[in-house]
Amino acid sequence: MKHSALFVNPPVYDFSASDLWSKPYGFLFIVDMFIKNQWEVFYFDFMNRHNQYYQGKNKKFGCGQYYSQVVEKPEIYKDVPRKYKRFGLPDEVFVEYLEKIRKIDIVLITCGMTYWYKGVEEVIKTIRKFTDAKIIAGGIYPSFCPEHAKNLGVDIVFQGSNIKDFVSVFNSSTDFHLKYFDRLFPYWDVYQKLSYLVVRTSFGCPFSCYYCGIKKIYPEYVLRNISDVVEEISKNLMKYNVKDIAFYDDALLCKFKDHLEKIIEKIINTWGTLNFHTPNGIHPKFIDRELASFLKHAGFKTLRLSVETIDEKRMKESSFKLNISEFESAIKNLVDAGFTKDNIGAYILAGLPGQDFNQVMETVKFLKQFPCSIKIAEYSPIPGTIDFEISKKLYPFLPLDEPLYQNNSIFPLWTFENKWEKIDYLKNFAKN
Ligand code: SF4
Repeated sequence: MKHSALFVNPPVYDFSASDLWSKPYGFLFIVDMFIKNQWEVFYFDFMNRHNQYYQGKNKKFGCGQYYSQVVEKPEIYKDVPRKYKRFGLPDEVFVEYLEKIRKIDIVLITCGMTYWYKGVEEVIKTIRKFTDAKIIAGGIYPSFCPEHAKNLGVDIVFQGSNIKDFVSVFNSSTDFHLKYFDRLFPYWDVYQKLSYLVVRTSFGCPFSCYYCGIKKIYPEYVLRNISDVVEEISKNLMKYNVKDIAFYDDALLCKFKDHLEKIIEKIINTWGTLNFHTPNGIHPKFIDRELASFLKHAGFKTLRLSVETIDEKRMKESSFKLNISEFESAIKNLVDAGFTKDNIGAYILAGLPGQDFNQVMETVKFLKQFPCSIKIAEYSPIPGTIDFEISKKLYPFLPLDEPLYQNNSIFPLWTFENKWEKIDYLKNFAKN
């Protein structure tokens, strides 16, 4: 009889969440590993908007809202004047699913943010009513808060994303044996319906920003094999009949000529008009006239530019990804190529350690001169990063080690008077 594994993408407890091309992409590679090892796979994604229980309406480009319910705030958020919600399918739907499973040998849970662990906790509680199979947790939360995850009831914490490491941890900590396969793909077949695809053409990032934890997940910057990426996209375009593709790369334009350009050309030569999106920031310094024109003709619809700050000292902390003249020239090239404010968004970071409110306002004011929408990216203190250590020194009175306090929505490092009024003002000012 085949061994069986249950994969779970848990519900999200947070102040806000919406499906902006959001899928547990890395988790699907692990599913593929089990499939290739001939395991029976059960897969439950609480965040699936195309489930028989909940058919979420698609808005623009296949995105949309999750099923959600307002829930009581944990004590640590008692002063936050926002509703706290549980996003994702109700627990009863999961219970119904579990009741149909005959046997579970191993459970795998992913978790996308450190401060989303309440979802993992809920899933463990439910699963324990059905099985005492070992529970393995991976993803951002267990990678950055391994001890916390163990205390939650996780049996095996997997840190990072290296699948070879996963196999060796798995083989040494369970009674089962997995064979390692080095050619894996995200196993999308666990979804009956999709409204978009997400893809990575690379893993990792060549930069090292103070606030970013990417090196813990992907220590190296690695380009995927071009034909693998094209095969993956083509197979799933055919199966799911979607038009929207979001790139998850962290440095998408870094090797544009030798990599992304070739991939896109192959895709559009076969598939014609598609909509491409870059929800992760792209680096303005790479956007010359030729590249801007290529993106326009290829069908890019959503471009998010990483600006972060115009403060010179902080630019160093952002790996000098940007200087102002490069940003100006990138915007000019994009507009000349035909992109409009509807397409172009600029991310700025708010709430970095030691960053005061006025510094963020200055960056917003600067960006208002340009045809781009301004997207405030609230800083989240990620354990193990340089900025986390700086934060601990600067704010010894804050409970930064508690993952819930790492939630970017609460602007954890901002403790000044009238904080929420000022944040509302900032957000409105950036929007209008
Ligand atoms: S460029 Fe982006 S992904 Fe790369 S280190 Fe900086 S913040 Fe992280």
